[in-house]
Amino acid sequence: MSSSSIAAIIYASSVSAPAIKGGHPDDEFTKSKAHHVPGGGFDNPWPSWKIHTVWTIVWGLIERRLRGTANKPDTTPPTVPVQKPTFLPTRESPNGKLRATWLGHACYLVEFPSGLRVLFDPVFTDRCSPFSWLGPKRYTEMPCQIKDIPFIDAVVISHNHYDHLSHPTVNEIARRHPNCQFFVPLGNKKWFTECGIHNCTELDWWEDVDLTLRPNQPTASTDKPLSSASAAGSTTASTAQQDPGMITARISCLPCQHTSARTPFDRSKTLWSSWAVTSAPASSSPTATPASVYFAGDTGYRTVPRSSSHDESADWSPPYDKLPTCPAFKDIGTRRGPFTLGLIPIGAYSPRWIMSPMHANPRDAVEIFLDTRCAHALGMHWGTWVLTEEDVLEPPKRLREALKLRGVRDSGVFDVCDIGESREI
Ligand SMILES: [Zn+2]
Repeated sequence: MSSSSIAAIIYASSVSAPAIKGGHPDDEFTKSKAHHVPGGGFDNPWPSWKIHTVWTIVWGLIERRLRGTANKPDTTPPTVPVQKPTFLPTRESPNGKLRATWLGHACYLVEFPSGLRVLFDPVFTDRCSPFSWLGPKRYTEMPCQIKDIPFIDAVVISHNHYDHLSHPTVNEIARRHPNCQFFVPLGNKKWFTECGIHNCTELDWWEDVDLTLRPNQPTASTDKPLSSASAAGSTTASTAQQDPGMITARISCLPCQHTSARTPFDRSKTLWSSWAVTSAPASSSPTATPASVYFAGDTGYRTVPRSSSHDESADWSPPYDKLPTCPAFKDIGTRRGPFTLGLIPIGAYSPRWIMSPMHANPRDAVEIFLDTRCAHALGMHWGTWVLTEEDVLEPPKRLREALKLRGVRDSGVFDVCDIGESREI
C-alpha cells in the first residue's frame, strides 16, 4: 500500500469525529442547522440575504443592456500588473513571517512559518466555465503553472462555482501532490470522489479538523510524495510536541453568505463556506510564530434593494446604512479570531442590487475585515475574469475610499497585490 493511500485511510477515519474546539456562536443554531434546507440543499439563514431567482438576475442584466445602462468593462492592457511569483524553496521560513502570494482571482498560496503550504480556491485554466472554448476568459495572464509551486499540503475550496473550483486544476494538483488534502464544504466530497480524489474532507459550518504533516524530504520535488498527511482530532497536539519535524494545523469551516451551482439544476445543493487555517510552529522552532489565515471565500454582506435613484458608490448613506448585515462575520471574529491575515473579496459587485446578496463590494469587504478581527488583509476576487459590470481597476480604488471612511489606514493594513506578488505579514 502506498503512503498516499495509507494517508487517505487515516484521514478518512478521523473525519467522522472532528475536534470541535473553537466553539460556535449558538448551540441552538448548530442543533437546528438553520442553513440546512429540509429535503436537501442549503440556505443563508439571515435577513441580510434576499434571494433573487435566476430569471430576475438574467432579466435584470438584459434590461440594463437594452436600456444602455450596462457598463462594459474595458480590459485593454495594461490593467492589473502580473509578475512571476517566487515561492520559498524549502519549508524553512527565513524570517518567521506568514507569506501570501496572490495567484489571480480568489487563489492564494499561503506559506506558513510552521512549514505548512495551503492553496486556496485554485483555478489554473484560461476560462472559468465548464468549457475550454466558452465562458469568461482571463484578461490577465496566469502568473505561473501548478508545476511551479513546490509544496501543496492542503487545498481549501470555498464552493463549487467555476471561478473557484476547477476539475483540471484539482486533478493536476492531486497527481503532482498525492498526499495533498482537500477541504471542502458539505456536499462537495462526492464530486472529488468522482474525480478519483479520496484525500478529501467535507465539513459543515463551525466544524474543525486538525491536519498533521510529517515532511520526509527537506527540499521540493514534484515527482515523489513530499509528506505523509493525516487529519485527526485534538490528540495530535500532544504528539506534535514530541516530534519537532511534525507540522500541525487546525482547519475550520465557517459560514459566509453565498450560493453554489455547477449546472442549471443544482443551485445551493452543496454548501459554500469561508475558512480559517491556523498553524502553530513546532515547539523546538524559536523563530516561527503561530499564524492564522481567514479566507472569506466568495461572500456577500448585505442585500441592497433596487432603486432607480440609487448611486452605487454611496450605498452606505441613509437609508442604505440601515440594511441588515450578515452576523456571521462578527461570530467568526469572536469564536475563531483574531487572525494574522484575512483574504477578502473586493470585486464582482456591480450592478449592486443584483450582486450584493452574494458578492461584497469594497465597503462590505472592510466591514468583513473589521468584524472578523483580522490584523491585516489582502484583496481578492478581482483582476482576472470579467464577471460583472464594474471597471476592472475600480475595486482597489473603492477599497481605499472605504478604508478612509472607516478610519483605517489606506495602506499597509488592507492592501491589494499585483498578480503573482507575495506579501509577508
Ligand atoms: Zn461564487
